Amino acid sequence: MQEVKTPKKPFIYYLLIAATILVLLNTLVFPNVLKRQVQEVGYNVFMQMTDRHEIGSVNITQTEILFTNKDNTEIFKTGIINDPGLVDRLYDAGATFSTEITEEMSPLLYVLVGYVLPIVIFILIGRLLSKKMMDKMSDGANPMNSMMFGTGKSNAKIYVKSSSGIKFADVAGEEEAKELLSEIVDFLHNPGKYQEIGASMPKGALLVGPPGTGKTLLAKAVAGEADVPFFSISGSEFVEMFVGMGAAKVRDLFKQANEKAPCIVFIDEIDAIGKKRDGRIGGNDEREQTLNQLLTEMDGFDGSKGVVILAATNQPDSLDPALLRPGRFDRRIPVELPDLQGRVDILKVHAKKIKLSDNVDFDAIARAASGASGAELANIVNEAALRAVRCGRKFATQADLMESVEVVIAGYQKKNRILSDKEKLIVAYHEVGHALVAAMQTHSAPVQKITIIPRTSGALGYTMQVDEDEHFLMSKTEMENKIATFTGGRAAEELIFHEITTGASNDIEQATKFARAMITRYGMNDEFDMVAMETVTNQYLGGDSSLTCSMETQTQIDQKVVTLVKEQHEKAKKILEDNILKLHEIAKFLYENETITGEEFMQILNGNQIPEKL
Ligand code: ADP
Ligand code: MG
Ligand code: ZN
Repeated sequence: MQEVKTPKKPFIYYLLIAATILVLLNTLVFPNVLKRQVQEVGYNVFMQMTDRHEIGSVNITQTEILFTNKDNTEIFKTGIINDPGLVDRLYDAGATFSTEITEEMSPLLYVLVGYVLPIVIFILIGRLLSKKMMDKMSDGANPMNSMMFGTGKSNAKIYVKSSSGIKFADVAGEEEAKELLSEIVDFLHNPGKYQEIGASMPKGALLVGPPGTGKTLLAKAVAGEADVPFFSISGSEFVEMFVGMGAAKVRDLFKQANEKAPCIVFIDEIDAIGKKRDGRIGGNDEREQTLNQLLTEMDGFDGSKGVVILAATNQPDSLDPALLRPGRFDRRIPVELPDLQGRVDILKVHAKKIKLSDNVDFDAIARAASGASGAELANIVNEAALRAVRCGRKFATQADLMESVEVVIAGYQKKNRILSDKEKLIVAYHEVGHALVAAMQTHSAPVQKITIIPRTSGALGYTMQVDEDEHFLMSKTEMENKIATFTGGRAAEELIFHEITTGASNDIEQATKFARAMITRYGMNDEFDMVAMETVTNQYLGGDSSLTCSMETQTQIDQKVVTLVKEQHEKAKKILEDNILKLHEIAKFLYENETITGEEFMQILNGNQIPEKL
């Protein structure tokens, strides 16, 4: 992908330079250049020239005598000497007396040459330059704006197709998104096919999804696939200090796009300008003007001309509804976190860039990296390659990849943080507590692996969950079991040490979140029935929720959340009590080995003998 961009300096900048040059010229250069060449000679030379009648005109001042030769080509000067007969002798010699012979130029001429002339020259050069610039970029923005502050021009990067560009093949696991986008590419290539039947292309498509899922990558792939110019600009680049500049940039961008049609305009992170206009007094004027301009421009251009607008965001619900209505961004392309197969594909795409041993099982790695985004998977592959180099190998192995899954998700192993034996024991029981509660409820291996080696992320232990079969519904019982599992760690601590620690803070957060969602959003509470108590915003960035009920109901909700979590906590304690021997056994194994796999876990649980670890 090649990028073409013209840098530009503001007018003020040129003005300053011009002023500096002017001052320098007048202080250093002109005083010497503009002075006439005057030769200083002795009085005897003056007397000789007088005698030989060689004086043209003469000017006798208080301090010196200035005189010229007969042809007035040279000026001389000499000092004053008390010489009474001088004037008569000069008169006899035919000299004319003139006050016009001076060392200095005439003041008028000086001002003309020193100041007016340079300014005129500057203006002429400026005219010429700005005319050239205008011609070149046919700047649609208010020229005054762009000249004064250099901001009225969109700084969109223009990509032109090149063989090294990103293609759809480089984006894995987003099949639906790719399909929708390839249709747009196809339209730009063969518009006739669509016009024949009367179909018109959507003017805009909005890529929506969590961070790191490949939205920007997809847009770049579109640029790489389509044989048309591709303008790429980030939403934040429209946000300017001066009101109106952002709007000018939008105008310029669309003017350029219209000239280059068919083409694609990509606005990344559009939420920077597309936020809902809230109508508050003193709201963000600049952003609103920019948005208004964008809306106008999107209405204004002719879709059949072949300008397609792509935009990406991870905050779709904060976007202004006007932006989303049909005729503007009427196609919404979800770019979700990849599923298992998607993760395998993404790993394979990135694995092509590094040297791998032949026996790598991508499926196992993808399972371990459940919930990872495309960006994280790319990072996992790279970390594996780095680890291989660190270990002095020529290629990365399965173990490298597995370790880097943990690195990317939980951070590096902390070599220097040594847990005391007591702490290590608590962590072992805590983690096994979670796993055992989960296992007893589902009767299957709940974890892939547990380690109790501290991580740089601050986690003291790390549990790699089994990637459950892909399913999209969760029953009430499953949700309750999940809460019980979250409380299992703390329950084990209570049961074994009769003391609780701070290690459960994350569990508490999660359990509360689940319990609250059950009551306020999923209607899993008899009393509230199917009434929504909460709305979720920002679903791709953590999902903030806000309550939509009265104060009294809020109090009730809080009570119900507490009751629900408490119930499950008790249940977890009961499960562990019933299986306390297994708890001891597995925790001992984990304490001694620092790592336990799902298989080993199930073997102990089912009463089988574990083969000695190497
Ligand atoms: P965002 O959705 O936040 O714009 P990006 O497109 O910038 O994410 O993705 C960041 C990086 O993650 C990409 O450069 C690429 O290396 C990797 N990546 C993300 N999704 C995918 C995918 N579906 N296939 C291959 N690589 C991906
Ligand atoms: Mg992005
Ligand atoms: Zn825990």
